[in-house]
Amino acid sequence: MQTELHIGIDDTDSRLGGCTTYTAALLFQELVSKGFKPLDYPWLVRLNPNVPWKTRGNGALSLHFAVEEEQLEEVKKIAVETVERTTDLRQRSTDPAVVFLKGRVPTPLGEFAARALHDILSAREARHIAETANAEMYLLKGSRGLVGALASVGANFGHDHTFEILAYRTRENIGMARRVNHDSVRQMDARFRAVTFNNVDPETGRVLICPHGPDPVLLGIRGEDPASLAKAFNQIEVEEPIERLMIFKTNQGTDAHFSCHRRIEALRLYQSTVITGKVSNVPRIVRGGHVIFRTDDETGSVDCAAYRATGSVREAALQLAPGDSVTVSGGIRSQPLGELTLNAEKLEVTGLIHTVRLENPHCSICGARCESMGKGQGFRCRKCKARLPKTSRVKKRELRKITLGVYLPPPRAHRHLTKPFSRYGIHRPASFEISNGNIDPTLESLVSISITS
Ligand SMILES: [Zn+2]
Repeated sequence: MQTELHIGIDDTDSRLGGCTTYTAALLFQELVSKGFKPLDYPWLVRLNPNVPWKTRGNGALSLHFAVEEEQLEEVKKIAVETVERTTDLRQRSTDPAVVFLKGRVPTPLGEFAARALHDILSAREARHIAETANAEMYLLKGSRGLVGALASVGANFGHDHTFEILAYRTRENIGMARRVNHDSVRQMDARFRAVTFNNVDPETGRVLICPHGPDPVLLGIRGEDPASLAKAFNQIEVEEPIERLMIFKTNQGTDAHFSCHRRIEALRLYQSTVITGKVSNVPRIVRGGHVIFRTDDETGSVDCAAYRATGSVREAALQLAPGDSVTVSGGIRSQPLGELTLNAEKLEVTGLIHTVRLENPHCSICGARCESMGKGQGFRCRKCKARLPKTSRVKKRELRKITLGVYLPPPRAHRHLTKPFSRYGIHRPASFEISNGNIDPTLESLVSISITS
């Protein structure tokens, strides 16, 4: 008798180079090599990116297998051992958790996972949900990792999903400069732009597929389907050994964190949110070059900040005028005096008012431009000195320097979850990719890649 077993893992990453995706790749390949049947690619689920204590992108991982009842304990044992082996428990910021759920995802867990994309959830609530859902918890230290581990198990790609292929470095190379040929990345980007995204920043030409620092990830390519990613990866010239490859199904590039539209009165610190309202002041530039504009809805008002790094979001924000209609998406932060600010990650301008400039009239006799005779005094022709009343001032419609539409930061400043322009119009609802335990040939070839060093 086979049953679905879902394994959720969170927070094995630490500042000094662990990476939860690596733990998941290792565990997935170990289970497959022992003959266990995956129901899907491993899931890399990005959660609320505006949670301040998750500095590395707030990702959690889950694996989904069809397991014989009598083998459940063996799989759990392998999972816990793999997490323990790949986690540096001495890291203060590491707080790993593993969750096992047998059978289908119950509704409360699905709802919890949906909220984890845009809200702040407590470990206490996570414990309660785990108990309700009959999920088993293995906490290696504290319980903070429980939120992510549960949320990755309960994730839902019913709206949209993408994939990422990750290549890992051999141990001796971690911390050294990455030997990836950047020209080959640009060539790959030119060829696979329709099915991959955010390979290269178009404004700067900067290669975006390689992380920085002592991360075990050599490179990651994001795209629409596993087969295209495998082909794109093969175009890249890599001049160092690759320890292993894995393809993840993910919610990256889907705007999943902007699934909750809130009224301004309901905004709370660290949420990711979407608000709709009208601009209520003239945008101002503050220290650092950031642009602040206030937005009102029928329940309140909030300052929206467009940081310098957000590029065209900031440029557009600067051109807004009181009365314009906007939809602003981003994260809630607090100002020094406790007032909330919405840090804009996406700006949609849905209505532009006509702004008017008042001009001095032309002379009704000779046509020359008139000058003002002083405040409230009317006008006098510069040429023939004819006088015109103050009511003769001309209203002239100003040309607005922005158009309706969506403004996004450049790809180099995107969050993992930001849906890039290249994916606009694309929604890929997903269920399990691998039916009846038959692995996709792409995945099979990846799993069989052995350690090359
Ligand atoms: Zn005149």
